[in-house]
Amino acid sequence: MEETSNFIKTIMKEDLESGRVKEIITRFPPEPNAYLHIGHARAIITDFETAKAFGGYTNLRFDDTNPTKEKSEFVDAIIKDINWLGYTPKNVYYGSDYFDADYEKAILLIKKGLAYVDDLSQEEMARQRDTTQGDGIESPYRNRSVEENLRLFEEMRQGKYADGEKTLRAKIDMKSPNVNMRDPVIYRIVHMEHHRQGNKWCIYPMYDFAHPLQDAFEGITHSLCSIEYDNHRPLYDWVVDNCDVITETSHPHQYEFGRLNIANTVLSKRYLRALVDSKKVSGYDDCRMPTLVGFRRKGVTAEAIKNFIISTGLSRINSTIEPEILDNFVREDLKLKANRVSAILRPLKVTITNYPEGQVEWLDAPNNLENEELGTRKVAFSKHLYIDQNDFIEEKPNKKWKRLAKDVEVRLMFAYFIKCTDVIKDENGNIVEILATYDPETKSGSGFDARKPNGTINYVEATTAVPAEFRLFESLLAPETEENKDLDFMERLNPNSLTVINGFVESALKDTNVGDHYQFLREGFYATDKDSTSDKIVFNRTCDLKSSFVAK
Ligand code: ATP
Ligand code: MG
Repeated sequence: MEETSNFIKTIMKEDLESGRVKEIITRFPPEPNAYLHIGHARAIITDFETAKAFGGYTNLRFDDTNPTKEKSEFVDAIIKDINWLGYTPKNVYYGSDYFDADYEKAILLIKKGLAYVDDLSQEEMARQRDTTQGDGIESPYRNRSVEENLRLFEEMRQGKYADGEKTLRAKIDMKSPNVNMRDPVIYRIVHMEHHRQGNKWCIYPMYDFAHPLQDAFEGITHSLCSIEYDNHRPLYDWVVDNCDVITETSHPHQYEFGRLNIANTVLSKRYLRALVDSKKVSGYDDCRMPTLVGFRRKGVTAEAIKNFIISTGLSRINSTIEPEILDNFVREDLKLKANRVSAILRPLKVTITNYPEGQVEWLDAPNNLENEELGTRKVAFSKHLYIDQNDFIEEKPNKKWKRLAKDVEVRLMFAYFIKCTDVIKDENGNIVEILATYDPETKSGSGFDARKPNGTINYVEATTAVPAEFRLFESLLAPETEENKDLDFMERLNPNSLTVINGFVESALKDTNVGDHYQFLREGFYATDKDSTSDKIVFNRTCDLKSSFVAK
């Protein structure tokens, strides 16, 4: 899917035409403190696609200015996810690489009389900045001299003070209705080792100070972020305007777009971490997680995610999309790409009484009826088969039943007509096996048309079939109702979000690779899971064959 125009592209086009910028440079700035989720995909796709549309480029910049949460593990995972989506950043930078430059800019602000060292506690500062109480209150330390501020800030850097004892604040406007402009903290003391800088620093710049500077240092022209940063924009501009970073080629501007939410799931990192930590899911790559690693493992393709995101459009308003919409794009992407093969999820034994014991014949089957290019494979047929329990009923109930029943004949896909002659039940009356006869005249491809079967079902040959585990997923959260809508998400977890069943797949799948996509005939789209062993292959249901989604 080609990304069509959107309001960001309109702005970029105008900026190029007016000469405000000479080229378009964007950046994606994740905090390396979690795995990326599908909401981040909107930001990534927007950053890369808009720049690409004008022949520009995109940097990846790890926003690792907060030493308390970042981990190198996440850095690698984020790069992998971005590549998987089909993008290669022009440069990979780290916010922490600019710590020296940030520090110099802080000194510059102090020298200009635009920043001061404050001794107030966090609580006291919050009280004085509170916008609900009218004008803010100026800190008693606000008017320290430049010399004193320089000395104190240097002492902060040297580690003379404990965490929280002092901060560096920008001197802006304590009367501003926008809390972000009420002398925000731009540096704080954190005595903690940084994942890249080690113990070099014990003062760290705040996001609102570091981010515009980083953008300026890299010559970012359009700094795109989600809408909650809207009221940080005046501060962004203040930092750019006052730190002497504007040059002929660099004058970054921030633009915001609405966040993407998915119904019946949680996207915020905080929640995703809670799910992992409380072991409600097996990890960040649990197939029920809205992370990119989770979607990938479940079998959702990068192409489908991209088309899905682009189809949701871009505006300044947050949007909540039903997850079933994503399934449409998965089906669309895989329908001609995936081999269509037989998997029997709920096996029912069938014995063909008139077929010789010990013989297996191999029949030709197309890999994808709608795409000849995928070629053919051999499927087995013998005296011992499995069909799905859902394809058999003892007494045919009505004309609509187009599957097997006693005294009824059906076509086995790519094989023969079989007719059920008897059923075998256990002591509880459950059907455990069915007896049938086959008609050698009816071999698939023979052109036999003397009788019409009562429908076509699929099967696997029992002696060559491969044992398989099927993992079926539903949404992580139970659909919203009047009763549960105010519950904490941990109390709204869907008890049916994972169902595991055991069955068989046809022998052609015995050499499947992790991540391979299949359309299981009459079942749905599935992907091979990394938990597969030599005894049992594990398949994840990516989505159903058809949408069961009813728009509300
Ligand atoms: P979370 O709120 O999940 O903790 P975050 O915004 O703190 O995420 P970052 O790593 O800072 O996560 O995000 C990197 C970029 O991705 C930011 O520019 C942010 O605006 C954007 N982003 C994050 N979540 C979404 C979302 N749901 N929709 C659109 N953009 C998003
Ligand atoms: Mg963030």
